[in-house]
Amino acid sequence: MIVAANLKTNLTRKQTKEYIETLDDFVKTNHINQESFVFPATSSLDSYDTDVTIGAQNAYPVQNGAFTGEIGVEHLDEFGLKTILIGHSERRHILGETQDVILQKFNYFKELGYTIVYCVGEPLEKREAGVAEMMDYINAQYRGIDTSYERLIIAYEPVWAIGTGLTPTNEDIIAIHRELKKKSPAPLLYGGSVKVNNAKEIMALQNVDGVLVGSAALKVEDFCQMVTFA
Ligand code: PEP
Repeated sequence: MIVAANLKTNLTRKQTKEYIETLDDFVKTNHINQESFVFPATSSLDSYDTDVTIGAQNAYPVQNGAFTGEIGVEHLDEFGLKTILIGHSERRHILGETQDVILQKFNYFKELGYTIVYCVGEPLEKREAGVAEMMDYINAQYRGIDTSYERLIIAYEPVWAIGTGLTPTNEDIIAIHRELKKKSPAPLLYGGSVKVNNAKEIMALQNVDGVLVGSAALKVEDFCQMVTFA
């Protein structure tokens, strides 16, 4: 079981440091062996002394160079990071990343041996259009991805469930995870409005290998509790 926190554009560097220290203490004190990941905001990345896996929410697929506003691998290297989130719906839909851009990032970071948490998921209109159209949409998000990459983790995150308080039914999560497991043997996380009160139940579902949590992970006490469910 993997429990991952996507802090998005939240928590300052100081707050992030406190967050990671609290989580690290909690995990050690309670002898928790499950893997937990934290993806801090880019400007809060640092060399954290922790057993928690720290990852980047994004980076440009270059060592360094003329890419205003981006960070490159040398910035991740500075903090010893080897984990990255790729294909998150906010990057696809708000920042306009196409599958080609996402694939370029995937291949670049795979070549460097990064652990890649790769996100897929459909918007509401695709879900409402029926299973065939929804699966076509999700299949397109797998285009070009090496689904047998040994450091790949996939996160299924329906766009309409992210930050909305809505979640698919347990039956729907089981059904789609069953389909996605046929596409890749990689650990498969569920993400989208996971909270303290539903995390345990979701993690117990078939083919759910953990959860990726956004808003409900912002309070470290809540995230710690979810880690105990894993
Ligand atoms: C996310 O953005 O990855 C996410 C799962 O967000 P939330 O938990 O807020 O739905």
